[in-house]
Amino acid sequence: MNDYEIAVIPGDGIGVEVIDAALEVLHECERRYGLTLGTTFYDFSADLYQRTGRKITTADLDEIGKLDAVLFGAMGLPDVRSPEGLEFGAQIDMRHHYGLFASLRPVRRFDGVEVPVKAEHIDMLVIRETTEGMFAGLADQHEPSDEVASDRMTITRANCERLFDVAFTQARARKQRGTPGHVTLLHKSNALRSNVLMERVFDEVAARHPDIGSAKYYIDAGSMYLVTDPARYDVVVTENIFGDIVSEVAAGLVGGLGTAPSADVSLERGVFQPSHGSAPDIAGQGVANPLAMILSAAMMLEWLGERYGDPRAARVASHIQAAVEAALAEGPLPRDLGGTAGTREVVDAVLTALPAAESTEVLA
Ligand code: NAD
Repeated sequence: MNDYEIAVIPGDGIGVEVIDAALEVLHECERRYGLTLGTTFYDFSADLYQRTGRKITTADLDEIGKLDAVLFGAMGLPDVRSPEGLEFGAQIDMRHHYGLFASLRPVRRFDGVEVPVKAEHIDMLVIRETTEGMFAGLADQHEPSDEVASDRMTITRANCERLFDVAFTQARARKQRGTPGHVTLLHKSNALRSNVLMERVFDEVAARHPDIGSAKYYIDAGSMYLVTDPARYDVVVTENIFGDIVSEVAAGLVGGLGTAPSADVSLERGVFQPSHGSAPDIAGQGVANPLAMILSAAMMLEWLGERYGDPRAARVASHIQAAVEAALAEGPLPRDLGGTAGTREVVDAVLTALPAAESTEVLA
């Protein structure tokens, strides 16, 4: 019996390439540190949908949900669309089916990677709400029209409470690792009724976590501070569409999407995937940066460690993170970070940099 059973959904484009890379690193960790992972592959993708019409169903999601976690590459191809004109993808289905209300997106400056802003220190966690906000009306019925179309932004108290609780809990855990322990809400309560409620609940939850500092900015000014003064942020929490945009701007501050991992979580379930998409412009060329996917796999182990009180999983996660840091510091750098290395060389650099097993770790 394995320690954990993982559902693996490679998806489209470079999703397939970066999943292969992450599994290679995980398998090496199994050999080195003794943690065992069973993997079950699920072939859902926009490409499959285009060829066969096969979509992910509720029964599929139920089956996948029985496993301990989901490792997801990327899904979607710009030309593969529903009759309504929306792109095909399973990410939003998974978020709703499993109630994954928070997307955790760490953004950290790595040694060896040039950044486009004057900031020595960038280390923040962007938390994007993922089941409501501006995406709340996706299931609404709409009459197709060429004249007018609308989307609905909905915020609920119950979801805000659990989202902000996660934000303050994450800030407390980060504080133990040496960050300031501070949560900032980015919102638009000067103009959006839904955000007035969001701000009010934020204040209430902040008052329940007096050991953690808090701040609030309007999303417009807050976005500017992200670029002019990123060091002011520790944990940033925001609405769905704001978080979609802000997390990618933040990723751009530290080198781009190739090193930006993410975890879509509820209190019981987790889907771990890079923040980037299927990158059709570079798919199949062997040049995709696999580090965001590898760091997402590390986030999966960290989350499994916390969820099941398993320090071994958490330790393997930190070994992977250390190996990625070393690989970036020593090079060769992948092309999106200004280097010449392809996916293969980057994976080799990470494998080489994986620390030796500690004496307390079981070698397989
Ligand atoms: P994208 O993230 O796929 O690519 C944006 C740019 O970043 C491209 O120039 C790409 O080459 C580059 N890039 C992204 N990841 C990279 C990596 N690992 N290494 C090197 N370069 C990388 O965004 P897009 O082009 O807007 O979208 C392409 C498709 O992906 C669309 O169908 C979109 O809907 C889908 N998408 C899926 C997800 C997901 O599965 N979670 C997220 C975003 C976009």
